Amino acid sequence: MSNILFQNAKILDARQSDPIEGHVLIEDDRVKEISTTPFQTTSAQVIDLKGLYLMPGLIDAHVHVKASSLDFAQMARTQPSYLFAGAAQIMKGMLNRGFTTVRDACGADRGLADALDEGLLAGPRLKVCGLALSQTGGHSDTRSRNEWSAPAANEQYNALHPFGRIADGVDECRRAARDELRKGAHHVKIMAGGGVSSPSDPIENTQYCMDELEAICAEAAAWHTYAMAHTYTPDAISMAVRAGVRTVEHCNLIDKATAELVAQKGAFHVPTNITYWALNKHGAEFGFPQVSIDKLGMIVDAGLSSIEISQAAGVQIGFGTDLLGPCHSYQAHEFALTAEVLGNKGALATSLEVNPKIMGIPDIGRMEPGYIADVIVVRGNPMEDIHILESDGAQIPLVMQSGRIVKNQLHELAQSNASRKA
Ligand code: ZN
Ligand code: ZN
Repeated sequence: MSNILFQNAKILDARQSDPIEGHVLIEDDRVKEISTTPFQTTSAQVIDLKGLYLMPGLIDAHVHVKASSLDFAQMARTQPSYLFAGAAQIMKGMLNRGFTTVRDACGADRGLADALDEGLLAGPRLKVCGLALSQTGGHSDTRSRNEWSAPAANEQYNALHPFGRIADGVDECRRAARDELRKGAHHVKIMAGGGVSSPSDPIENTQYCMDELEAICAEAAAWHTYAMAHTYTPDAISMAVRAGVRTVEHCNLIDKATAELVAQKGAFHVPTNITYWALNKHGAEFGFPQVSIDKLGMIVDAGLSSIEISQAAGVQIGFGTDLLGPCHSYQAHEFALTAEVLGNKGALATSLEVNPKIMGIPDIGRMEPGYIADVIVVRGNPMEDIHILESDGAQIPLVMQSGRIVKNQLHELAQSNASRKA
């Protein structure tokens, strides 16, 4: 791999409010050196950024790269090859938007992560959980009341479903967790409460008993990894963190006492407000089932106050989006929603500082020598205007992943400026 020198950049990450004007040398897949004085080097390819901003690639801790539609029940009846083709498209879009690392929250398997690592596909570095574990009638049980009620139905379901598997009781939970880890899952996903996109479970449900949750967390720990849990209500959140879950997702209905418990357990809250905002705006038009639209109301408005409550209790807050189908283009809009509570710097820190801790990748998220060279060029300062990260990557002309340039529109910019002058 060749060396690349970014000259005349305004360098920033989520640790300081003001950018540093300087130069960044990339060697192989790492940031080699950052300097405020020019480098004397001959071997590197030089990219003059002429004062554009250079920052770490964005990190999203809650995505579904296979969710090419808003209707999970319908996707469960779709052939795997079609869903993977959709995933390739979605992941390319994420990279184009500046997201260089994402954590999948069910659907993506290890084959997809390996294909990305080997360069067979373009997309962010991917951490996967395989299939989510759900109880019968839980959030990954996408059957309607009338479907597949025979005793053998769960086996058929588990053999075919592209997002979740059903496991009931401690033994089945242990086997399901072990099986997902065997297939290469980086972490385990538990559906620990009612959900919006599933047809038959009310939001306020808790799902799984303590012994089942503890068994799954123990299997994850035995594999030296962790469990993430889908939760909305104080009951579901507190059961999950008491059982040992590392990250509680969404948490829209969290209260003060529960947030204090989450903080005490050292667990992380990963809000995903943009998905409710997007579904509220476009759900009906994009085919979100009516049963799900009916459930949205309870949680859409509570999202931002959940961040406030967690922040006040000292909970570490990560960055997630949870977008489905055509709503993926709103991925970076989560920053502006989070910034309403945490400010621009705080919102960037959820993605760049907290998400690497969640995913266990300590060397991403900062502009610092030794860190993985996942960097993006931005045509403005997100510390001042967080919306600059939106517009589907239009203001992000360059994306570098592990030292390789995977998007470069700087030349096009120079050409269009030149033709304007001519
Ligand atoms: Zn969820
Ligand atoms: Zn999700």
